[in-house]
Amino acid sequence: MPDKVFQLRCRKCSQPVAWPPDSPRCPRPSCRGPLQPKHNIRFDPSLIEPIEPGMWRYRHLLPPLLDQPVTLGEGGTPLLRLDQRPYTLYLKNESLNPTGSFKDRGAALLISTIDRAHTVIDDSSGNAGAALAAYAARAGMHARIYAPATAAPAKLQQIARYGAEIVRVEGTRDDATIAIEQALAQEQAYYASHIWHPGYVQAMQTVAWEIWEQLGRRAPDWVVLPAGNGTLLRGIRWGFRALQKGKLIPKLPHLAAVQAAACAPLLAYQQENYHPGHYQCQPTIADGVAIANPPLIEAMAAAIRKTKGHVVAVSEDEIITARDQLAGLGFYVEPTAALGYAALNHLHTLIDDGQTVIVILTGHGLKSH
Ligand SMILES: [Zn+2]
Repeated sequence: MPDKVFQLRCRKCSQPVAWPPDSPRCPRPSCRGPLQPKHNIRFDPSLIEPIEPGMWRYRHLLPPLLDQPVTLGEGGTPLLRLDQRPYTLYLKNESLNPTGSFKDRGAALLISTIDRAHTVIDDSSGNAGAALAAYAARAGMHARIYAPATAAPAKLQQIARYGAEIVRVEGTRDDATIAIEQALAQEQAYYASHIWHPGYVQAMQTVAWEIWEQLGRRAPDWVVLPAGNGTLLRGIRWGFRALQKGKLIPKLPHLAAVQAAACAPLLAYQQENYHPGHYQCQPTIADGVAIANPPLIEAMAAAIRKTKGHVVAVSEDEIITARDQLAGLGFYVEPTAALGYAALNHLHTLIDDGQTVIVILTGHGLKSH
């Protein structure tokens, strides 16, 4: 790290924790809160390493690794300008990452900080599990993914093909989490949680940094993205915050978090109509964001508040229409990845003429077969 030793602290009780952490949550049994960096990163462009591929050009701005990065070529995804509207629209195509989703950035960083003797485990219904399975395979590590029995078949096949073990858990996502906790009590395994591990969010900053470079070293006015557990949302905010702290951008872009109307806990939270653990979702085609009770919902709401952003909920019909419109433009994405594009119709009254808007495409269409 540029100027300070990278350290973590608990967001709830401020307990200091060394990097890399032994477990993804606060070590105090009575707390178990989320961990976050003790100090915000200040982005320093002189630390960019142009010779490194993809997201590793920012290696010296990310938390330290055990050794060389475990990489499949993640990051460095295209930013493509679309038709001229009253505002300027770009798509950041994260579906072109090695396993077909933005989660590769988080999995690459995590695997690069975990002792290879460990079995890595995570609970995931899809993209995070596939990413962890791929990077574990690349590192020669054993991975085990706890997936709800209802997970999409194409995603489970992808996880299995990488050689990871799959444990199908009947019931809800919460039941998968309980199964993880039981496994951790019985064996030496590392919980490489895409929800809880602070390294995952740190890796997502690289999306913001790439956008800044691809726009000619300036920030957009809006970034519109799907939000389930909020990793990308929070990571992008941290990334632009680091640029602001480095005096490289005058203000943060507004972040617009998009959820399916059938499962919109963040919107309910904003409307003070959310009770932790009790929110219930209806079925949605956007399986990647079908998270009824995101553990870090308060931090997600903070990312919206601190960027003067917005939460949008879109209907199933709007998601399908947006997915097909994107395909009509040549972008083949899974339904979840069409949420940002679907939300533009809801945001146009908030976007000023001449502003720059980024929509993030999160996952590839081949995953939804
Ligand atoms: Zn704590």
